[in-house]
Amino acid sequence: MESTAATEVAIIGAGPAGLVLAHLLRRAGIGCVIIENRSRDHVERRVRAGVLEHPTVALLRDLGVAARLDRESMTHRGVEFAFRGERRRIDFVERTGKAISVYGQQEVVKDLIASWLADGGALFFEVDDVVVHGVEGARPTVTYRAGGVEHRLEAAFIAGCDGFHGICRPSIPAGRLTLADRVYPFAWLGILAEAPPTTDELIYANHDRGFALYSMRSPQITRLYLQVAPDEQLERWSDDRIWDELGRRLPTDAGFELRTGPIIERGITPMRSFVAAPMRHGRLFLAGDAAHIVPPTGAKGLNLAVADVSVLAVALERFLRTGDEDGLVRYSELCLRRVWRVQHFSWWMTSMLHRFDEHDTFAREVQLSELDYVTSSEAASTALAENYVGLPFATL
Ligand SMILES: Cc1cc2nc3c(=O)[nH]c(=O)nc-3n(C[C@H](O)[C@H](O)[C@H](O)COP(=O)(O)OP(=O)(O)OC[C@H]3O[C@@H](n4cnc5c(N)ncnc54)[C@H](O)[C@@H]3O)c2cc1C
Repeated sequence: MESTAATEVAIIGAGPAGLVLAHLLRRAGIGCVIIENRSRDHVERRVRAGVLEHPTVALLRDLGVAARLDRESMTHRGVEFAFRGERRRIDFVERTGKAISVYGQQEVVKDLIASWLADGGALFFEVDDVVVHGVEGARPTVTYRAGGVEHRLEAAFIAGCDGFHGICRPSIPAGRLTLADRVYPFAWLGILAEAPPTTDELIYANHDRGFALYSMRSPQITRLYLQVAPDEQLERWSDDRIWDELGRRLPTDAGFELRTGPIIERGITPMRSFVAAPMRHGRLFLAGDAAHIVPPTGAKGLNLAVADVSVLAVALERFLRTGDEDGLVRYSELCLRRVWRVQHFSWWMTSMLHRFDEHDTFAREVQLSELDYVTSSEAASTALAENYVGLPFATL
């Protein structure tokens, strides 16, 4: 059996990039269909990022999908750094006039899906064998299987929003993309624990034993990370060992208490920086993790995905409405400017905060001196703050 359908934009992937793009296109009156290879339950439970930049929150509000975010998210006015037995705070609002919001990525995804489906949006989960065809021509297609049926979706454009391991980027012929890559010599072991956070803000800890991050997802749930070896095995980390190591690396002063509780989720995330350029091949446009990934230290992955599609939606709308190709031509260059700013910030935060085996006394002291400077100089802390709360999205 085979079914054929047509739309203006075929979106592959129902992560933050694909879903936000779909909402932006719908608002502009452009037809689109989203296909996703995992189940709805899986994508709505996938615990990943949790820090939303100021421009991301503004866009979600603008799209009318932020009612629950506004009720349940936590506004963070700053961030703390712990090193050399001290804690230093950078006040984002004082430095930039802006704050960040803490709200789990899976909650953002749930809100976007609920609103998309409630208004009759087309979204197909659990599709297999997704293949893109004819992207160098004027009428590309996507074929996939769903429920034992072969589907063929014709479109004017394909948006590759299928993450780092998706099929869109690899479908671009070898030699058309320039790849830039850094693999870091460590990974993050992350847990979610049923333990009310002790502090109102994140604490980034640079410790001789390695990096640790104290963060939270709600007033009841703490999100904690430990720097571990890149090939670390999760089974080697009992609950007791995780809490013990967090206790050693996080602050020990009287003002901080590490509250423990049942661990409800755990995983190891490799640390990598990656950029594929250009973010377009013919009528296939890459957005979000499909084109680039950052180490999570700067809390940027989700935000960068949203920034990409905010540009892509305008470019597609202009072309489909008026035939003006300028936005499509400039899409990759415009996005990559912000991508590289965020790449630098994420790499810099990662370099400043982690323990590197090859560091000798000189390198270690230089690293701590940088942290000291960044957290005490008004100019340097403003630079960190304006990157952290999010530089404005590019406009066409
Ligand atoms: C394990 C992990 C942990 C992370 N933790 C953090 C964190 O703690 N802090 C932080 O700031 N950032 C974190 N990130 C980064 C952040 O979550 C991503 O940058 C963000 O999800 C990017 O959104 P996206 O829509 O581009 O990609 P994704 O969220 O990856 O969405 C892509 C979607 O495409 C679907 N898909 C894949 N292949 C196909 C296919 N062939 N056909 C159809 N659909 C397909 C996927 O199932 C997925 O739903 C993490 C990422 C990962 C992978």
